[in-house]
Amino acid sequence: MDATQREATIVGAGLAGALMATLLAQRGWAVEVYESRGDPRIHGFAGGRSINLALAERGLHALRAADADRDVLAQAVMMRGRMVHPPGGSPQLQRYGRDDSEVIWSVSRGELNITLINAAEAAGARIHFDRRLESVDFVAKRAFYRGGGELHRVGFATLIGCDGAGSTLRGQMRARSDLGERTEWLGHGYKELEIPPAPDGDFRIEPNALHIWPRGRYMCIALPNDERTFTVTLFMATQDEGNGDPSFETVPDAAAARALFERDFADALPLIPGLDHDFDANPIGTLGTLYLERWHLGGDAVLIGDAAHAMVPFHGQGMNCAFEDCVALARQLDATRDLAAAYAAFEARRMPDAAAIQKMALDNYIEMRDLVDDPGFLLQRELELALQARHPTRFIPHYAMVTFMRIPYSLALERSEVQRVILEDATRGRSSLDDVDIAALDPVVEAALTPLEDSP
Ligand code: FAD
Repeated sequence: MDATQREATIVGAGLAGALMATLLAQRGWAVEVYESRGDPRIHGFAGGRSINLALAERGLHALRAADADRDVLAQAVMMRGRMVHPPGGSPQLQRYGRDDSEVIWSVSRGELNITLINAAEAAGARIHFDRRLESVDFVAKRAFYRGGGELHRVGFATLIGCDGAGSTLRGQMRARSDLGERTEWLGHGYKELEIPPAPDGDFRIEPNALHIWPRGRYMCIALPNDERTFTVTLFMATQDEGNGDPSFETVPDAAAARALFERDFADALPLIPGLDHDFDANPIGTLGTLYLERWHLGGDAVLIGDAAHAMVPFHGQGMNCAFEDCVALARQLDATRDLAAAYAAFEARRMPDAAAIQKMALDNYIEMRDLVDDPGFLLQRELELALQARHPTRFIPHYAMVTFMRIPYSLALERSEVQRVILEDATRGRSSLDDVDIAALDPVVEAALTPLEDSP
């Protein structure tokens, strides 16, 4: 290694860790990555969190930077919109965008992780599997990893924490300096179930959609997998909330789950032949939002992805945001060799955006489980598209700003709030778009919203 080569140690070879390793190794850094799990290419992917994920433009853009986008898209299933399954009614597709240039992609977490691990190694990063970070001595600049029955002591120049929501590195940083950490638990959890392929080997329901069964304060969703299955996720309260709605407390086992599906998700039940087994075998996942006031410890360590700002999954943006973090951090590290300055600039730039997507993700739970089959909500969506057609650079639907653009999340939130007021005021007391004087809204839109360009 030449004396000017820059060095980083990355903790975690999950989604953010493997991408961060790729980006830095491509820039000529000496990168060592320590991952607590075994190599998924040898042992298979030992998941933990969701089986598949929605990939959107922010994540894709980051994958392009790592030259991994084509491999990932080759295994992805396109989702054009939400297929909403009302109780007792027939499913309706609500498009996410204007056409097939505005879609999201369902990707397998395991396949995506393996693609990125391969990319990181191809770029020159060294990944050490079965090495769980246990503790850090920031004074001596040594980290201790447990693996193969031994404790390994390894020096570091700087640590980049990509070890997820339960980050050990964060705990070690907190022990040295107050990070202003706070977690707000949602009080709702999730359980994953599976829709297998049909007997002829095809998908059992429309593959190019994210299916939603909204039921007020709880819901099911299903995302397609390229092996023609769907992963179904049931979201509901973890404890009985005393409001008559089901919860994991009142639906504790397969028999109770079957009764719930018979009552509330009748069209989904025949699609899930393994319901009893899946419900009893799969764990209940917990959901929360992690807020920190500081993401770095001088130039010694920085946190990115879920380790810095875990969020609830309802906007499908946690991974997309983590990937955007990687690009943003690499950019700051390109700008200066002063690590503390680069980490401070990264934190200042990204923290407002992380807070914005965390808020939008919480708001989207209400939208998905409660509003997507509400006539008032649907009228607002119709008006949104009509205003976008009249003002394509000014009035861009909330979902499009978050999902199909790369403008800062904080700007998307700010503009969404302005647009929400316009939509609510214009549709109040109306039941059809014919009752709305759209031309009268032109000066309102022009006064409230400046033309918007996507980030370069
Ligand atoms: P992780 O993916 O959690 O990776 C952390 C890595 O660090 C793991 O490999 C872990 O083994 C390793 N590790 C942990 N501790 C240690 C240690 N002490 N030492 C060494 N290694 C360690 N996001 C989207 O964009 N779209 C979606 O559709 C979406 N759906 C979701 C659905 C659900 C149900 C959930 C829970 C999340 C969803 N997310 C989604 C969010 C997404 O999963 C996360 O934001 C993303 O995984 C964050 O990546 P990460 O690399 O920061 O953390």
